[in-house]
Amino acid sequence: MNRAPESIPQALPHIEALAPYIPGQQPDGEGWVKLNTNENPYPPSPRIAEAIRAELSRLPLYPNPSSGTLREAIADFHGLENSQVLIGNGSDDVLNLLFRSFCDKGKSAGMLEVGYSLYSVLAGIQNTPLIKVACNREMVLDPKSLSACGASVFFLTSPNAPTGVSYSRQQIADILDHYEGLLVVDEAYAAFAQEDAVPLLGNYPNLVITRTFSKSYGLAGLRVGYALADPKVIQLLDRVRDSYNVNRLSQAGALAAFLDTEYYENVINRIEVTREVFREKLKELDWFTYPSQSNYLFTEPCQPGGRVGAEAARDLFEFLQDRKILVRYFAGSSLTESFLRISVGTDEQMDLLLAAIEQWMNRAQPK
Ligand SMILES: *Cc1c(COP(=O)(O)O)cnc(C)c1O
Repeated sequence: MNRAPESIPQALPHIEALAPYIPGQQPDGEGWVKLNTNENPYPPSPRIAEAIRAELSRLPLYPNPSSGTLREAIADFHGLENSQVLIGNGSDDVLNLLFRSFCDKGKSAGMLEVGYSLYSVLAGIQNTPLIKVACNREMVLDPKSLSACGASVFFLTSPNAPTGVSYSRQQIADILDHYEGLLVVDEAYAAFAQEDAVPLLGNYPNLVITRTFSKSYGLAGLRVGYALADPKVIQLLDRVRDSYNVNRLSQAGALAAFLDTEYYENVINRIEVTREVFREKLKELDWFTYPSQSNYLFTEPCQPGGRVGAEAARDLFEFLQDRKILVRYFAGSSLTESFLRISVGTDEQMDLLLAAIEQWMNRAQPK
């Protein structure tokens, strides 16, 4: 029987109305300087390929359902029990499980006005009201307004995306001292930060920390992330996740990366050095840039004569794109629309970017 396409039944109303997550562009073809999705510009540790190759002959077998060996290695490293760790298919998987397990129509989610935009999509999928706590331009965190916001689960990105600003362990403890809900600290960029919230786990059973292999380990394509939390929280998330949520190759590859600490300390250090050098260059241009504890810089382009704002930021974004340099632009909020987020690449990539920025600055100069 032939049925007309219109005969597809209606989905749930909140799904029909859902605005999907918009990932950063992944261009086809060669020659792009890709500084738009905070990927790691350096190659993965050679041990990863070895580990994945060794795993290939075992592909007919289902993977370990709880990613056991990787879970143990991560628990050991953080000084935690296996029961306090959950491995996800990327940390986005873990965030999704948190929404599924703790949020619904009557149990709202919270985030800062400036934060990782996936949270609002996940709230939409789960049909959960989303409470946004206001930010000021200084991005000073107000623990009181956050703990009083009424959300059942609060998702705090620290270091923050897209600003790169990190919140201190003390500030997070200040929130937890007064917050009744579940506080999820999304530490996707913790490897580039001076401090993290892991030591607080022992004192606060309502704290969840999420991490990823996508940024500091340069394994965005492998899809591995994890949660650290109280065993009761982990048990709940374990019930909800796909039983084989992390495939064999990803488990093996992530474990090899995790154990190659020397290689990654070196990579992270190089990225931090490049970040600080580039931040200095932006300072010389007189652009306002947030201090970053991540692998990107959030900077406010300013042309000679002081032209600054959404129009200038979008103009530079397009100017760079025309020269095959991709950065990220966030429209729609007065706190982000005059800025560009630039991932820290190799020194060579940053030099290419800087040369293009200089062209743009000169172009704007009155003749
Ligand atoms: C990149 C990113 C993630 C997603 O990590 P995956 O492990 O690739 O899913 C989560 N949170 C923030 C803030 C990120 O920037």
